[in-house]
Amino acid sequence: MTRLRIGQRRTTLNPPNESKLAIDGGEPVAREPFPSGMLGPAAIGEEEVEAVASVVRSQRIFRFLDHENSHCTRLERLFAEMTGCPHALAVGGGTAALICGLIGIGVGEGDEVIVPGYTYIASASAILICNAVPVIAEIDESLTMDPDGIERLITPRTKAVMPVHMRGIPCDMDRIMAVAAKHGLRVIEDCAQACGGSYKGRRLGSIGHAGCFSLQQYKVITAGEGGMVVTRDRTIFERAAIRHDSAMCFWNPDDTTSGPFPGENFRMNEMEGALGCVQFGRLEGILARTRELYKRIHAGIADCPGIQPHRTNDPEGDCGISVAVLLENGARAKWFAEALRAEGIPAGSMYDQGIPDRHIYRFWEYVMEKRSADAHGRPWTSPLHDGSRAYHPDMCPRTLDILGRTVIIGLSQTYGDQHADYIIEAIRKVAKG
Ligand SMILES: *Cc1c(COP(=O)(O)O)cnc(C)c1O
Repeated sequence: MTRLRIGQRRTTLNPPNESKLAIDGGEPVAREPFPSGMLGPAAIGEEEVEAVASVVRSQRIFRFLDHENSHCTRLERLFAEMTGCPHALAVGGGTAALICGLIGIGVGEGDEVIVPGYTYIASASAILICNAVPVIAEIDESLTMDPDGIERLITPRTKAVMPVHMRGIPCDMDRIMAVAAKHGLRVIEDCAQACGGSYKGRRLGSIGHAGCFSLQQYKVITAGEGGMVVTRDRTIFERAAIRHDSAMCFWNPDDTTSGPFPGENFRMNEMEGALGCVQFGRLEGILARTRELYKRIHAGIADCPGIQPHRTNDPEGDCGISVAVLLENGARAKWFAEALRAEGIPAGSMYDQGIPDRHIYRFWEYVMEKRSADAHGRPWTSPLHDGSRAYHPDMCPRTLDILGRTVIIGLSQTYGDQHADYIIEAIRKVAKG
C-alpha cells in the first residue's frame, strides 16, 4: 500500500478531467503562480541593505583606501578560498573579468580564442576587445562546448580555449583540458552563470589557467555589478591586476615581474564589495536548494517518454539552476514550451530564428559581420592575422539543432516543493499530449 504524505501530490494518476492540456482549454497544472525566478537578488534582505548603507555612511567607496579592511579584498579572499586558487581579483563586471583574464593569460592581437556558439555575446566581445579573433565551436547535448569539436578548429594562431559553464552546467573539463594540453593552449573558464558549481569535486574556475565570474543581477549571486578573476598563477594574476587599473603597475614595481603596460578602470567599489560579501554568504544555501529541486524534478521525469533531459557532465557539481529537456525537433520544442507556459510553468524554448537571442552565436551581429568600433576592421584585418576567419549564421548546425530542440525551465531557491511537482506534472502531461 502506498500512503501519500500530507502535501504530497500524485503526479502520475490524473483524473481524466485534469488531463486535457491547458493550451487546449484544460485546467492548468500550476494552481498558484511561481515566485520570483531570480537567484541571489531574490534573497536580498536587511543584511544587504545594511552592508551597502554602512559603506555609504563611512564615505569610503574606493576600495584601495584601506586595502586590508576593504570589502573587495574580503570578497577576493572568499573566492580564493572557495576555488582553492591563491589569487583572486575583484573587478567591475563579468566582461571585465574575461578581458583581464584573457590579458592575464597573454592573449593579444593576432591570436585566436575558441569559444562555444552558445554563450552570452560578452564572451566573444571580451576576446575582440583584446584584439583577438573568436573562433566558434559547437556545443553538445550538455549545452556546453563539445570537446570533440575543438581540435579541428586549432590553427598555429590558437592561443586559448574558453569553455563556458552555461546555465550552471559544468563543461567536460577533463576532455577540454586534455585537448588544450596536447596543443599547448591556455584555458580560461567563463563561470559567469555557474558561481559555486564544480566538476568532479573541483570548483569551476579553478581547473583552467584562469576562471572568470560575474556578479551581475541575473547570475547566481549579485553585487549589483561585479566580477572576479581567479588563478593559481602569480603572473596571470599580476597581468590581470595591471589591466584592471591604469596605474596599478606603478604601485609596487619591485613586487612584480609583469608590466608596465596600460590598464583600464575595471575596479570594484566598496558598495559592490560589501553587497557581494553578504550574497556570497548565501551562495551555498541557494545552491543546496536549487540542487534539491533539480534532483526532485529529474527523478520525477526520468521515465517520461518523448523527452530527453539534458546531459550534465557532473550531476553533483551542476548548480541545478536550470532543467533543460530535449525534444525530437524544433517545432515540437516550441509547442512544448508554449504548452508548459499554458500549464503555468515558466518555461522557454531556446532558439527561434525570429527572436534574436544574444546567447546564440548567429545573433552576435558584430561577430558575424566582423564589425569594429573604428573603420580599420581590427582584429580581423590585423597584419598579425591572415584574415581567414569567416563567419556564417549557419556555421554551427549542431548547436542550432540542439538549442532548437531544447526547452528550458530556470529554477530558483524561492520555489517550494509544490512548484517542483507542478513542473514534473506539467512535463508528464504535455509529453503525453
Ligand atoms: C553575464 C555573462 C557575462 C558578462 O558578465 P557581465 O557581468 O554582464 O559583464 C559573460 N559570460 C556569460 C556566459 C554571461 O552569462
